[in-house]
Amino acid sequence: MKTNYSQHDDVKKLLEISCGLHSEGGDARFKQIMHRLVSDLCHLIDEFDVTPEEFWQAANYLHTLGGRQEAALLAAGLGLEHYLDMREDAREAEAGFGGGTPRTIEGPLYVANAPLSDGYARMDDGKDDGRVMWLHGQVKDTDGQPLAGAVVDIWHANTLGNYSFFDKSQGEYNLRRRVRTDAEGRYAVRSIVPSGYGCPPDGPTQALLDRLGRHGNRPAHIHFFVSAPGHRHLTTQINLNGDRYLWDDFAFATRDELIAEPVKITDPTISAKRDLPHPHTEIEFDFTLTPATQAHEEQRIQRARALQE
Ligand code: FE
Repeated sequence: MKTNYSQHDDVKKLLEISCGLHSEGGDARFKQIMHRLVSDLCHLIDEFDVTPEEFWQAANYLHTLGGRQEAALLAAGLGLEHYLDMREDAREAEAGFGGGTPRTIEGPLYVANAPLSDGYARMDDGKDDGRVMWLHGQVKDTDGQPLAGAVVDIWHANTLGNYSFFDKSQGEYNLRRRVRTDAEGRYAVRSIVPSGYGCPPDGPTQALLDRLGRHGNRPAHIHFFVSAPGHRHLTTQINLNGDRYLWDDFAFATRDELIAEPVKITDPTISAKRDLPHPHTEIEFDFTLTPATQAHEEQRIQRARALQE
């Protein structure tokens, strides 16, 4: 027999009290959201006849998730971070904005205040013997005009799929740089071709994915924040073509317009001109920023990050 205890009057009253609906203080919007959340949870417990053992297993899972600082990783894996992007895309389309490089998820591994330089930077410390990468492109507005002085903030993993700061074996800000575009809106960096990576295999995100019958892998990718005065801040990534997980990203970040083609440069004169070892891999990617209508749109969203700016 289907139970519906959560609809009993005494349960409804309990949840109104527990979520502060009859209390003077607190935050009205927060109370409404909590009340919906807890009510839906009780409804779910009814619907699936969740046992006390299962309930406490879930509570303990949250302890583990927090202890490992994987809540943001799980949000990406469950598609919730991509859902926020889909929602923003739809809102912008309704408002008539568009024409820029698409956004995609930030992920949980950005570190603020990477070294800033003009036009060019070397991102790697020379200790990773991965393939040398020349990554370059132009930042433009929606009329195709170059944006000089735009800041291209780049971060990516090493050949083991690890990020500096979180991976203490790498030096500070390794594979993290900010480059200000030149008069033609151009940026260029020397780095190494990153590898894809997976969720920590012993962590709570992977444990949950296992129970969903899913893997926790991402294709090789490079993260970007791109910003310029008067333009909407862009949070995005490029995914490297040829990766087996390109269209099977556990975090759902791949988009048609964000696939970059790694090209092996076999002409030694090009390597010499760039003062790079020969041969090397070139990735070219341009960005288009859309005009901002309000000052706050020029900034990245506020969220807790490593090393707050
Ligand atoms: Fe990443």
